[in-house]
Amino acid sequence: MNRPIHEECGIFGIWLPGREAVSTALTGLIALQHRGQESAGISWSQQGELLEKRGMGLVEDVFGSFDYRAVPAHAAIGHVRYSTMGKSSLVNAQPLTFSSRMGPLALAHNGNLVNAPAIRTQLEQQGSIFQTSSDLEVVAHLLARATTTDLDRALVSALGQVRGAYALLILTPQRLLAVRDPNGIRPLVLGKFRGGWVAASETCALDTVGAEFVREVEPGEMVSMSNRGLESVPLFPPRQHAFCIFEFIYFARPDSVFMGRNVHMVRRELGRALAREAPAEADIVTGVPDSSLSAAAGYAEAAGLPYETGLIRNRYLGRTFIRPCQQQRDLGVALKLNPIRGVVAGKRVVLVDDSLIRGTTSLRIVQLLKEAGAREVHLRIASPPIAFSCGLGIDTKDDLVAARMGPGEIREYVGADSLEFLSPEGMVAATGFNAKQLCLGCFLGNHPIRRVER
Ligand code: 5GP
Ligand code: MG
Repeated sequence: MNRPIHEECGIFGIWLPGREAVSTALTGLIALQHRGQESAGISWSQQGELLEKRGMGLVEDVFGSFDYRAVPAHAAIGHVRYSTMGKSSLVNAQPLTFSSRMGPLALAHNGNLVNAPAIRTQLEQQGSIFQTSSDLEVVAHLLARATTTDLDRALVSALGQVRGAYALLILTPQRLLAVRDPNGIRPLVLGKFRGGWVAASETCALDTVGAEFVREVEPGEMVSMSNRGLESVPLFPPRQHAFCIFEFIYFARPDSVFMGRNVHMVRRELGRALAREAPAEADIVTGVPDSSLSAAAGYAEAAGLPYETGLIRNRYLGRTFIRPCQQQRDLGVALKLNPIRGVVAGKRVVLVDDSLIRGTTSLRIVQLLKEAGAREVHLRIASPPIAFSCGLGIDTKDDLVAARMGPGEIREYVGADSLEFLSPEGMVAATGFNAKQLCLGCFLGNHPIRRVER
């Protein structure tokens, strides 16, 4: 399958008196694998030192033969990456570990700093040398250059200069810090684990390691974990919370919970709203595994139509396997998805997908269903057209089909018998939140942080 937009990253941090921080961090990262498959890494604190292991590929590829029992660490941070900024290579794999006047530091983040390129240019003009193309290195430089050796103050100074979306973990030999940007765009949750604490991108990672959800890190807040226990430090006054709605629509795992709402239930509600807004004369409803299945079930339920498994996905195909050239893209969909002929043949099918970005997935799936004998394919998208690039953690590139074509043209392009999107109002209502609590920038262009044109 093609990679229409780049996934974000996943982060996991643990402070656990004892020696099992690394094995727990590995478990947490595996639960966050859907957020990034390009590289994985862990930094840990061991006898006053920070050590690390990073590599390209899945957590399993990097750590499969790693003997974590030989690592008696009481704290660790981990990262799974899919580049939104910076090239795809090992030097950009996180965490980023370096030494500073404040001692050794390791950083891992999920997000995107819109003014990182500008700050970097400035620092380079002043003689700074950068080793990576990751925007996180800019934060490292700003930290190292702060006029104080007090880490909290250095963080206020460094993060006060960057604009963007970030959920950031910082490990020192003495502390583990979890910071969330003042708009709370990217997710970051806190849990309690045995006698310690964990911070993670999603609650599914807490569930997987057996931690108990405590709360989300608040926008602008820094949570500090250390031998003194858990402390909350308000680093920046919170701005209007603008949580990325795309977490609910596509990114997050369906078993995760944000702002008190379960992702699967929200997706089902999106599907129900779509059925009310855009009904179709049809025989069956089917989804595109895995990301749209919750919405498809909701659509079927509200439409009173049978929900069917019309497409089967090959679960053993890693996303990184597919190289982004056209021939392999074409092969990609066939490798990844196959219709069940007996289910779709002769039927009028409602095909529900969660989002439409370049339209290439839809085009091929409509084709697949028709080749398998579907009489009609009514494509229903459980979110509005994505007409604006993100810049806050999602790399949408420039080929957004909804930026170039109206719904009629898109319908023709993908070859569906009909095509309807969920309205922005319907989408927000289905989440149960107020539009002001969400970042709707990719749909409406009203990003909470001014984007820098790239
Ligand atoms: P399109 O083919 O229109 O470019 O992309 C739409 C499809 O991509 C949908 O099936 C949706 O589930 C999926 N999708 C949405 N966001 C992302 C992403 O960030 N990465 C990947 N790999 N797929 C995505
Ligand atoms: Mg999909």
